[in-house]
Amino acid sequence: MMVKNCKSCGKEFKPYRSSNKYCSTVCRRDAHHQKNEEDNKIIMQKILKGVEEYNKKREIEKMLEKHRKLKEFEALCRVNF
Ligand SMILES: [Zn+2]
Repeated sequence: MMVKNCKSCGKEFKPYRSSNKYCSTVCRRDAHHQKNEEDNKIIMQKILKGVEEYNKKREIEKMLEKHRKLKEFEALCRVNF
């Protein structure tokens, strides 16, 4: 049987099956756990970016609203004076 390197810890091991990638169930579980954590990190970053963009959009909307109100006020002043 060929010797392989564990995808998780890098140690050499003899796989029972050629499809085995990890030296032990612990390494396999660790690798899956790590992948899940990385996926979670990516999802978190996407959420944070979404929130940031939402806040930016709200900020711009607020500024536009202020600008619009100012213009309205100016127009009103012009009519009254
Ligand atoms: Zn291992």
